[in-house]
Amino acid sequence: MNVLVINCGSSSLKFQLINSDSEEVLAKGLCDRIGIDGKLTYSPAGGVKTTVDKDMPTHAEAIQYVIEALCDNATGVVKSMSEIGAVGHRVVHGGERFTSSVVITEDVKKAIEECNDLAPLHNPANLIGINACEKIMPGVKMVAVFDTAFHQTMPEEAYLYGLPYKYYRDYKLRRYGFHGTSHSFVSKRVAQINNEDYNSTRTIVCHLGNGASLSAVNNGKCVDTSMGLTPLEGLIMGTRSGDIDPSIVEFIAKKENLDIAGVMNILNKKSGVFGLSDELSSDFRDLKSADLDGNMLAHNARKAFCYRVVKYIGSYVAAMNGVDNIVFTAGVGENNPDLRAEIMKHFEYLGIRIDEEKNMINGEEVLISTEDSKVKVYVIPTNEELAIARETVALVQ
Ligand code: ADP
Repeated sequence: MNVLVINCGSSSLKFQLINSDSEEVLAKGLCDRIGIDGKLTYSPAGGVKTTVDKDMPTHAEAIQYVIEALCDNATGVVKSMSEIGAVGHRVVHGGERFTSSVVITEDVKKAIEECNDLAPLHNPANLIGINACEKIMPGVKMVAVFDTAFHQTMPEEAYLYGLPYKYYRDYKLRRYGFHGTSHSFVSKRVAQINNEDYNSTRTIVCHLGNGASLSAVNNGKCVDTSMGLTPLEGLIMGTRSGDIDPSIVEFIAKKENLDIAGVMNILNKKSGVFGLSDELSSDFRDLKSADLDGNMLAHNARKAFCYRVVKYIGSYVAAMNGVDNIVFTAGVGENNPDLRAEIMKHFEYLGIRIDEEKNMINGEEVLISTEDSKVKVYVIPTNEELAIARETVALVQ
């Protein structure tokens, strides 16, 4: 079956068409500047990537152009829309209601809308994408795959904040975690590679991208993750601060004469390694070359990033009373041997040994620990779109 995977933002829409039998990506692309003017980027497998201006007042036109591109006589990859068996939608927040992926119904859409408070920038955009697809592709089965669902197995002690309980009771204010599709995909893949039972192994997944989070997966269940109510908590990220003393919000507001939205903008967009490097870059490639050129702020930003990862790994080893596998994934995790080595050298006390040569391999599945290492350390490229396609097929077939 061909599955169209959609990741819809407020003014953009990323898509991939995946053949679920061969798991090949038939085509992928992006609709950008929806509601402004509109641009469609389209890449068929083995073909030429093209970008064309298209009038996209709403997401419905964007989807229409995606379908036309996929079915185009010359550059399309299917003959007609009837060759698209299902659509899998990435939905950011499923609250406590969704503990796994679901086939989309009117009731499900209402429940997603009820989570809008928890993800005001993302869930409304995800719903717009779902409605636009339903309009353009009537009768095609749609599935919602939630970023939060995998983490719903966390126990209370991991998901409750030390705040008045009534906020949890009344508003569902708690830790949820994100990147769940990636944490699930990667932790399952480790068990598969090791040929071991997913339900009796302990894995720490380090999803290190522009947004970054860790998870502790104990016997097939996520028991903790570093992001919280929103993706702002946890690690130092590309532009997000991660954990800070909450009093900093008031401190910055007073010093800089900012309102809450202004401070939140600083914490989300101007902080992380971008802020630490004095706005040099949020991209680890730039930071590395600046570091090599002797830029101390870039050097310290990279070290602070690693140190935060080390602290989280240490706490998850304690949470699970040990660890069998540690996995690096996503843009930073898959492509930075020096950061992996820097992080892992803090765990020699656990008997972890890194094979320097294997650690130099980037962007592919590789065991980077030595044979005598007490814990297996892997690099496993994540593939959230494939994970969404698999979940979708499992539910519609
Ligand atoms: P997100 O999905 O959160 O945007 P990604 O997982 O795509 O993030 O990761 C993006 C980050 O990965 C970039 O900002 C960059 O720092 C890092 N990255 C990607 N490719 C490389 C590379 N070849 N070498 C070093 N860092 C890289």
